[in-house]
Amino acid sequence: MSQHDLTLIVGKNAPRDEINRVRHLIDGAWTDGNGEVFERHSPAHGTPVSLISKGNANDASDAIAAARCAFERGVWSDLSGKERATLLLKVADLIDENRPRIARLEVLESGKPISQALGEIEGAADIWRYAASLARTLHGDSHNSLGRDMLGIVLKEPIGVVSIITPWNFPFLIASQKIPFALAAGCTCVVKPSELTPSTTAILGELLIEAGLPAGVVNIVNGFGDPVGSVLTTDPRVDMVSFTGSTAVGKTIEKAAGDTLKKVSSELGGKNPQVLFADADLDSAIDAIVFGIYFNAGECCNSGSRIIVHEDILDEVISRVVSLSQKVPFGDPLDPETKVGAIIHDGHQQKINGYVREAVAAGAKIEIGGAPIQIDGLPGAFYGPTVVSGLTPDMPIASEEVFGPVLSVLTFRTMDEVISLVNDASYGLSAGVWSENIHTCLEFARRAQAGTVWTNTWMDGFPELPFGGVKESGQGRELGRYGLEEFLEVKTVQMRIGRTRANWI
Ligand code: NDP
Repeated sequence: MSQHDLTLIVGKNAPRDEINRVRHLIDGAWTDGNGEVFERHSPAHGTPVSLISKGNANDASDAIAAARCAFERGVWSDLSGKERATLLLKVADLIDENRPRIARLEVLESGKPISQALGEIEGAADIWRYAASLARTLHGDSHNSLGRDMLGIVLKEPIGVVSIITPWNFPFLIASQKIPFALAAGCTCVVKPSELTPSTTAILGELLIEAGLPAGVVNIVNGFGDPVGSVLTTDPRVDMVSFTGSTAVGKTIEKAAGDTLKKVSSELGGKNPQVLFADADLDSAIDAIVFGIYFNAGECCNSGSRIIVHEDILDEVISRVVSLSQKVPFGDPLDPETKVGAIIHDGHQQKINGYVREAVAAGAKIEIGGAPIQIDGLPGAFYGPTVVSGLTPDMPIASEEVFGPVLSVLTFRTMDEVISLVNDASYGLSAGVWSENIHTCLEFARRAQAGTVWTNTWMDGFPELPFGGVKESGQGRELGRYGLEEFLEVKTVQMRIGRTRANWI
């Protein structure tokens, strides 16, 4: 059965795309599994985009069996680093070739703008190439100073079968921050994309087959956290779970995986502060604030969702952020000029608006926005660029992950005060500092509790640099060498040289 054998044209005001049929990929074959399906509509246009097989516990179990069998047979883990790297590089080329198709489906399911989606797919291909380089340089350690008659070797081995559970905000990119590293390490995988955005993960499955990946090495099961995610995190045949999503589900997964002591690597939420000292270069900082909060409509774990501004520059910062916010092109995600598209679904729009309404009721001031907006008659959910001031740090809008285009503004006077505001948060994903004084930047970078600190920039990222959080933002790292290490087990081999061992008896 092929991945695409259903062609339906949607109504005349809508994008005239075929409905994308998304099946499970189990043991190298596309399958309807138990036969149940569900639909995904474009959150911007309201039109049907995909018809998706809805996995149940049996489908998840079959996928795990295939991954376990492929791992035990060594069809992938026994290959050399060179062979693994060659395949990963081929996948990267195929991603490049299929970039427009992948980007368009990403837009139609997630609501993100097409220009951004194209950039993400290009970035994803680059990550596959970087992971290929790691496959060839993977090595352990040797200990040659344990005495004349002893040599110690530390081997790095693939951890085994990995469940990979991904969210809806960066479906292809986040899959590409996990799968190629797991493959570079020699693992086999079962992937569950978010039920809202599964299509581009299925395309990745096609590309893996086209590149020649052996059957069963990567399996994909579509469906919901319950039951598919639950099976993937509890089945004893799974060795590790790699998860990106909300902190609440991350905690559920930690508990579920604990019964079988699986390793869990998690990339969770954030309430990331950008701190502006009085000597900040405001021309750069204001643009970075606007980018940090509206990029991906704020539906981003790395969203710069709170700024903490030195009191001396507060009025100027608010006025300039408001002015620049008015210029950000919110609109139809398929328009190449659009920078901010639709909210993922109506329920999430209401959640965002709920945070704003609650803050207003508690005395906060809306500097701009604060309500849903209409875009060119599109039926989807769009939320206006929003800046909220007059907050206290304990208000939900200032301390919880709103996951929308809503900026919270707080103030400070001293380094100690701002560090305590930054570190009082339960989250610790990323933080940023703006100052022309290198000593200020370095002191902040060393004292801030965060997995990433940006100084005089925001949300730059490279495959070479590890990414992840501390505290309730998760455990473990993606990307960089550390991203590979997550998928490796360590084995110690101790070798006696010569017959020098004194008998015990
Ligand atoms: P979730 O954390 O609920 O979902 C992320 C993934 O986990 C999805 O594939 C989901 O499946 C799956 N999942 C859900 N429950 C379980 C479970 N018990 N066991 C295993 N897997 C499970 O994110 P949501 O999509 O519901 O978004 C809710 C909130 O999470 C957002 O408003 C935002 O605050 C935050 N979020 C944070 C992200 C980040 O990057 N840090 C990313 C996405 C969301 P499915 O949804 O298909 O049922």
